[in-house]
Amino acid sequence: MDFDLSWILLGLPLAFVLGRLSSRMDLRQVRQDNRQAPKAYFKGLNFLLNEQQDKAIDAFIEAVQNDPETADLHFALGNLFRRRGEYHRAVRVHEHLLSRADLSREDRDRAQHGLAQDFLKAGLLDRAEEALRRLEGSAYEAEARLALLAIYERSRDWEQAAEIARRMQTAKQGDFSGRLAHYLCEQATEQARHAQLDTAHQLLQEAVRIAPQTPRPRIELARIQHRLNQSQAAWQTLQTLAQTTPQGLPLAAPLMLEVAAATGQQDAAAQLLRARYAQMPSLDLLDALVALNTAPAEGEGQSRDWYVQHLAKEPSLVAATKWLAGEKLEHEEHHPAVQKALEHASKPLSRYRCAACGFEARQHFWHCPGCQSWDSYPARRVEEL
Ligand SMILES: [Zn+2]
Repeated sequence: MDFDLSWILLGLPLAFVLGRLSSRMDLRQVRQDNRQAPKAYFKGLNFLLNEQQDKAIDAFIEAVQNDPETADLHFALGNLFRRRGEYHRAVRVHEHLLSRADLSREDRDRAQHGLAQDFLKAGLLDRAEEALRRLEGSAYEAEARLALLAIYERSRDWEQAAEIARRMQTAKQGDFSGRLAHYLCEQATEQARHAQLDTAHQLLQEAVRIAPQTPRPRIELARIQHRLNQSQAAWQTLQTLAQTTPQGLPLAAPLMLEVAAATGQQDAAAQLLRARYAQMPSLDLLDALVALNTAPAEGEGQSRDWYVQHLAKEPSLVAATKWLAGEKLEHEEHHPAVQKALEHASKPLSRYRCAACGFEARQHFWHCPGCQSWDSYPARRVEEL
């Protein structure tokens, strides 16, 4: 074969020139893009400064189409709008980011997280829930689940809340056993309200199993057992409560009186209440002992005297008022007016108070209606705190 070397000598410079030309064309393209991108930024910035946010978003979106490396700018913009309370604009920015095909997985999750924050702040809980659910399996998973819990608690959707708490417990994202037990107790309360006592019973048994060291599941289980005419079982549950979580006993005292009466266990109940009262002189325990006509300690007179004896343990206007009600005064004609004034003054002292926010209520709450904290109400009255 005849091989002509001159073709190579001619071809090499030609390839060199063509290569240079094509690289120069690329450079020109890049320069052109870079010129266009800042132009769009300045346009956007100008709109932003002139309070024309929607036009600004359009300009920035145009800029990002020319330069895909501008996701950070969009995140900053989205956060800025959210902080200013302009949620629909923040949503638009984050939705635009999510629609981009060139976004990395990391940035996509970040945009999804931003979108969920926008909906949360805007109070659009349905859409926030949907956005948060999409964060499963992402780096924002634990945070998203906590936000979902808050949504379900606010809407009192205890079933969904329980499902999330179970997942967090399994994934070791914290100890959610106490919270899960509360959700089950809340579900049980709903079921009991609709006379579904057997379902409520099952839920409460599960709650006891999950959080055996908390008072609520046993108190509520004993209540349902008593309603199901299983008073013996209710008595057993209350005995276990007194052993495992005695601090919860003042809350269970009125129920204990009912269960003791149904099972003929008044003496055992009195003994149990006395033992606890000796450790922690609580007015609720004393009231229960007075109802059982049992002295808090040996040989201590009549039930009315026990209130005045209580004053030696704890200064209490409530106890003093209860004692005075049966006392014969030297100026007996003034007694009704004095009694009324004392009862009026001592009434607020019988309330329960949330340790987290100070919200006071006549009834005890496991979930504060003021600040939504769990277990923030001590089992003691305001005067005893
Ligand atoms: Zn509170």
